Order: sequence, then C-alpha cells, then structure tokens
Amino acid sequence: MSTNPSGPARPDEASPAGGPSNFVRDIIIEDIGNGKNGGRVHTRFPPEPNGYLHIGHAKSINLNFGLAREFGGKCNLRFDDTNPEKEDIEYVESIIEDAHWLGGDWEDRMFYASDYFEQLYEWAVKLIKSGDAYVCDLSAAEVREQRGTLTEPGQNSPYRNRSVEENLDLFARMRAGEFPDGSRTLRAKIDMASPNLNLRDPLMYRILHSEHHRTGNDWCIYPTYDYAHGQSDSIEGITHSICTLEFEDHRPLYDWFIEKLGIHHPQQIEFDRLNLTYTLLSKRKLLALVQNGRVRGWDDPRMPTVSGLRRRGYTPEAIRTFCQNIGVSKTNGIIELSLLEHYLREDLNRRALRVMAVLRPLRVVIDNYPEGRVEEMEAVNNPEDASAGTRKVPFSKVLYIEQDDFREDPPKQYYRLSPGREVRLRYGYFITCTGVVKDDAGRVVEVHCTYDPETRGGNAPDGRKVKSTIHWVSASHAVPAEVRLYENLFTRENPSDDSEGKQFTDYLNPNSLEVLTGCQIEPSLAGAAVGARYQFERLGYFCPDLESKPGALVFNRTVALRDTWAKIEKKLK
Ligand code: ATP
Ligand code: MG
Repeated sequence: MSTNPSGPARPDEASPAGGPSNFVRDIIIEDIGNGKNGGRVHTRFPPEPNGYLHIGHAKSINLNFGLAREFGGKCNLRFDDTNPEKEDIEYVESIIEDAHWLGGDWEDRMFYASDYFEQLYEWAVKLIKSGDAYVCDLSAAEVREQRGTLTEPGQNSPYRNRSVEENLDLFARMRAGEFPDGSRTLRAKIDMASPNLNLRDPLMYRILHSEHHRTGNDWCIYPTYDYAHGQSDSIEGITHSICTLEFEDHRPLYDWFIEKLGIHHPQQIEFDRLNLTYTLLSKRKLLALVQNGRVRGWDDPRMPTVSGLRRRGYTPEAIRTFCQNIGVSKTNGIIELSLLEHYLREDLNRRALRVMAVLRPLRVVIDNYPEGRVEEMEAVNNPEDASAGTRKVPFSKVLYIEQDDFREDPPKQYYRLSPGREVRLRYGYFITCTGVVKDDAGRVVEVHCTYDPETRGGNAPDGRKVKSTIHWVSASHAVPAEVRLYENLFTRENPSDDSEGKQFTDYLNPNSLEVLTGCQIEPSLAGAAVGARYQFERLGYFCPDLESKPGALVFNRTVALRDTWAKIEKKLK
C-alpha cells in the first residue's frame, strides 16, 4: 500500500511559531522576507456550494486559515458559486457551519464569486476590446473535437477572427438572453497549438438559462471556474491562492488573465489532495450515495463529511491535529484511515468520561447479595485527568454484563466469567459463577453468582488475584439505549478503483452499520446530550446521536478502542 511519500510530518518539526513546517509556509516566509505584497498574507478557502464539506476540505481549511493565523494575516471564505445548476443554499449553510466548527474564522469576510459577476463581465468586455477574447459559435462537442490532444495541436475556431465590434455585440446579446443554452461561448484567444491544453482558447462564459441561488434570473451567462477564480482572488487582494495539485496546469491560464487585465496578482500554489483509505472524497460520488439512499444523508456518521464526522463524535481538535501531522506536499498519496482514528483516540482519551454500558446484556443475579440493597460505588471519571473527579455508580443484586463476558464452556485462554470462575466487577466486588438458567432453546439467559463482601472496590484483602475485570450495570438503575456501531463504509482501500469493471458502489460494506437496541447504560448518562463524549469502558468511544433524547437515548460508536495504527507503529519500530 502506498502512503504519502513525504510521510506524516513529525510534530517536533513544527516551527517555534507554531505552524507545521511545509513548502507552502516556506514560500510565504520568503515572500514576507522580500516584502512582497507589503508583507501581507491573505489566503482564502473557496468551496463550491455543490455539496457538503469533507475531510479533504478540512485539510484545505486548516492550511489556509492556519497560515493566515500564524502570520497575522487574513483568510476569506469565498463561495465559488459559478455553476447554478449544481449549487444550493442548503450547501452554503452547511459549509458555513462546518467551516466554523473546524475553527475557520473569516470575521466579516464571507464572499461569493457571484458578487463579482458584474465586474467579471466588464473585464471580459475589456479582453474582447484588447483582442484577447471572442464569441465562438461552436458547440461543446465541436470545441472538444477541435481541441487537439497532448501530441497534436488544436484547430483555430472559424469564429476566432471576428471583429471586436461583432464580438461586443454578440457578447452583449448573450447576456441579454437572445441565444439558447450552448449555442455560443466566450473564449479567451490564446494559442490553439499550446502544449498546455488549458491555453487552447479556453472557455470564459457559457450560456445557461438557469436560476442562481443568489442572483436569481439576473444572469443567463455564467463565467467558468478558470475565468472567475483568479479574478475573484485579485478583487479580494489575496496574496497566496492555495489550491490542489490538479490546478497546476491551470496556473499559466490563471496568470494569463491577471496579466492581460493588469490587476493585482495573487500567487497560485498547489498542494496534494487528501486521499484516505476506505474512503471516497469526491462530492459527486458522495452526492450519489445520498441521493440513492445508500447512506442516511450527508451527515450520516459513516460519511467522511465534516457533518458526518461531527455526528459520529469526532472533535475539531482531532481533525486539526491529523491535518497538521499529515502535512502538505507536492505529490498525491494516500493516507491510512487508521491514522485519522489514531489522532481521534488520542484526543478522546484525554477528554472522554469513562462510563459503563452493556451493549448485549446478560442478567446476573448475585444470590448472597441482600435483596433491596443498593450501594454507591465510587468510579473514576477519567484516569488521564484527575480534575474530572469521580462519580457514584449504583450496585445491586441484579446486574447486566456483556453476553461476551460469559462462556458456559470457556475455551483455553478465556479468563472471563464461567462456571466456578471468579472475576472482578469493575469498581464492584469479586464474583464467582455458581450456575446458569437456560431458556427452552438451551440458551443461557441468566447467570447466578456469589460475591465476596471482603472485596468491595475490587481488591481482595488476602491478596488473591483474578484474571479479568468486567464491566456491568445495575439492572434496576440502568437506562435503556440504542447503540449504533459502524465499520468502514467501503470494503476496499481504494473504492474508486474501477479497474475490474466495478464501481465504487460495488465496494459498499454491507456491515457498515449495526444497530443494537436494548442496550443498558449506567444511569449517569440518562440526560446525555449531543456534544458529550464518553468512553464506554472496554468498548470504545461513544457520543449521543443527533436523534438522541432523554428517555430515548441513541449513541454512536465514534471509534473502537483498539488502535491499529499504534500497532503498526510498534511493528515498524
Ligand atoms: P470535490 O472533488 O470533492 O468536489 P472540489 O475540489 O471540487 O472537491 P471545492 O468545493 O472546489 O471542491 O473545494 C474547495 C477547496 O477545497 C479547494 O481549494 C480544493 O482544492 C480543496 N479541496 C477539495 N478537496 C480536497 C482534498 N481532498 N484535499 C485537500 N483539499 C481539497
Ligand atoms: Mg472544485
């Protein structure tokens, strides 16, 4: 399996100023040293509102806002909303929420490329007047055919030498709505023989009689990404326009427009897109999963979207630490999903309260424990954080333990409860199994035990040892809950791999969601609210789901306890 060639940057390589060292940062430091842009640093995060943000966007947000913060600069949020057919206000709203949640702070600088439509139009007219743009009547298919290939030059459009007057007239009439969709375009007049296909008279405007979520029906021509993006950067006074590597070949075009127009010139810098194993980071494919009901929405906890990760129980801090540690480079690679989970566990380990919950309950009756008695056992809230204190957990005669923690016929090396065996109940007593009750089908439905009153708190005064400690809840005190367990959404490391004539939906994991009802949770969680994070002892990290409410608790398992990454690291050492 390939990994990012630069490898995760080590935290100790971070600069004293706080920002992780990388080539983009080096460029900025050099520019500041040279007094470029008067020493200003101004970046932007430019999502297209055609889907929800995902973990790849988080990398870009972390980089852009992080650099601005580090160098006392600014970072704008700009919606790159030039494609009305795919965009929607729902996406705008979710992006604002998610970018904020990740720590993006654009103060009062939230902009839309659509705010610049009039200016962009005027500049297009200017380019027509200087002979650098023309109206072309070729269809999209014809443009494609005449574009040439990497080895063959393209052909000049028969409309390439229209007079400035004719171009101005036609472009004005395009705007006025005289022509149907697709009948004409405005193209930059550059070089149909350029080895860079992006410079072969690229489109600047297309006709699209489509209502825009902000400008309504004011426009029926819309600028392309290539024409709108650099000019929007320039209008906002951006100094460093940081984007992903696939735009490297577009940089000459970015520079060409800016130079022809003679306006402020931001520098485009490209970095590697984030790819994660077992994960898709394409809005188009994520949208397909949502639309086809393969997941329960954009914020399904299995989705790599920011809203999905949040609902799953990720913290913005864990995502930020992940982004800082993977660094940025000039080569695309693929990062292990387990690395993201590693940083998540590290963060949750510090902050999550430890509690006891039984997901698949088995009744345990302690025969020699007095009927009706309830003891309050003292339990530690977080061994990593003494300030989190302790809490009382009720203990009584009838408990639930995990079905997994009992075997009538224990295999070798199974040290948990079984007939005749003594184990420790966490924060409770030592108990010994004395018998079982079975249903008609022969399944164990109840386990009988005795307890040793001398072992309160979990230690025997005579020093005898037990080989395992299991968690429990008191049956009459526990609160019921639904618990949702997740596995990777895809079964394949690279679900985009279509080499075997398959598509990504063929690799959906049928077991990605398991819903457990009838779970029993310790009573301190009866009022658990969204935003709280817990470690269910021995089971993993969990959080209340958006649908959870008192009386009808629903928890998501954020991540299991086992840290495969830590294991891999250990092996590598
Ligand atoms: P998608 O392919 O998911 O539609 P996109 O690049 O079209 O992504 P935009 O909304 O245009 O999505 O992206 C906004 C910003 O986020 C851009 O600057 C883009 O480069 C960056 N970005 C998008 N995906 C990733 C990724 N996987 N890793 C890093 N940055 C990304
Ligand atoms: Mg894009």
